[in-house]
Amino acid sequence: MVLLYVAGGLAGLVVVNVLLGRPVPFLRWSFIRMLFGMKRLLSEWQVGDGREAAAADYVVANAPAGDIDAAIAAIDRFAYRKKFLINVGDEKGAILDAAVDRVKPQRVLELGAYVGYSALRMARRLPAGGQVFSVEFNPSNAAIARRIIDHAGAADRITIVVGSMGDGGKTADALEQQHGFKPGNLDFVFIDHAKEAYLPDLQRILAAGWLHPGSVVVADNVGFPGAPAYRSYMDAEEGKRWHTRAHKTHAEYQKLIADLVLESTLA
Ligand code: MG
Repeated sequence: MVLLYVAGGLAGLVVVNVLLGRPVPFLRWSFIRMLFGMKRLLSEWQVGDGREAAAADYVVANAPAGDIDAAIAAIDRFAYRKKFLINVGDEKGAILDAAVDRVKPQRVLELGAYVGYSALRMARRLPAGGQVFSVEFNPSNAAIARRIIDHAGAADRITIVVGSMGDGGKTADALEQQHGFKPGNLDFVFIDHAKEAYLPDLQRILAAGWLHPGSVVVADNVGFPGAPAYRSYMDAEEGKRWHTRAHKTHAEYQKLIADLVLESTLA
């Protein structure tokens, strides 16, 4: 998994070297630094150079308080100009926006908050009364995401829950007992955390019974770095339990690495 990410990143850099002279953001040191921090990134969900906390400082310094659009734009600017971040980003974010617009969910579950970027994007499009619950493994990322979300004035629509769906039921219990999750009341899921956890965590969500016919699950990074088990599952279930639209796109904040976002509707 780590090797796949690093090999893909290095392959991208080789392509970039062929195209030298073009302004390619991920030739910047911050992207290469991220590749060096990849093992830590994939175990702790921070690069290890403080960039996630710096992103929050940047948002607080550069976006007016209470302005969700400005907060989202500031995170994108930080990722393009300062340090690369593994947010869903602006290009794939528009795919996520369109899915939220189509579903108009009252209850959204996100797996992997990171700095809160995609939670903000989804919260911005929610109908009145809609809520995003974002499960984040790393308490430090959760604190960073909360700081950005508070600054953006979106804390009334986004709840960050520290934990993981694979922790033996602890987080699932908290979602049910503290956050109102119950059979059939989950309209939308955005999966963007550990790539090997996509399928087992979706199966845990299905087993909990929270989804209903018409619930939509959007999965990031199915093309790069890839979630092969999840992709095979959706392929096998096509026209049966799920109907999937595959969106061909690019990995975040650059145009050379292709990525795939799957938007799957439960039958
Ligand atoms: Mg992602």
